[in-house]
Amino acid sequence: MDLKEYIAIVEDFPKEGISFKDITPLMDNGAAFKYAVDKIVEFAKEVEAEIIVGPEARGFIIGCPVAYALNIGFAPVRKPGKLPREVVSVEYDLEYGTNVLAMHKDAVSPGQKVLIIDDLLATGGTVDATIQIVEKLGGKVVGCAFLIELTELNGRERIGNYPIKTLIQY
Ligand code: 5GP
Repeated sequence: MDLKEYIAIVEDFPKEGISFKDITPLMDNGAAFKYAVDKIVEFAKEVEAEIIVGPEARGFIIGCPVAYALNIGFAPVRKPGKLPREVVSVEYDLEYGTNVLAMHKDAVSPGQKVLIIDDLLATGGTVDATIQIVEKLGGKVVGCAFLIELTELNGRERIGNYPIKTLIQY
């Protein structure tokens, strides 16, 4: 199946100069969504993931069905002020300014094998911050999986030496 057929490219969204990859047509199509999730499930089995960690909001959309299919847990990574209990946070740089991401302190146990899942890998800033949080909690990152990779932005280099799976490349 050519998953690219199910990605809508929206020019100048959310601001001028950005060519946004919209995954909602893929989610809309049962066969395409299942195919994409199944591919990531295969990768999760290969790396022997014991828990899925996904950043808000589209990391939830892809990460939760993978966790469900494997009968393992899912832990959310969120912006500050969203999680109700004690969190561990990491600040990271954006093109302009900084961003903070947080996870519940007890979401991952020491030594647990974590697969990080998000919809899209661009500069790698989001996944890099997520790796840092998981490692602060003592989790072992066994891989990172994405529907889409924007190869020109070199996110892979920023991630470093973790197994990476992407289903669609631009
Ligand atoms: P990065 O931190 O790798 O630069 O950016 C990746 C994050 O930004 C992901 O969480 C992703 O959801 C979001 N993102 C950036 N650009 C796009 C895009 O074109 N399409 C979608 N669906 N998400 C994007």
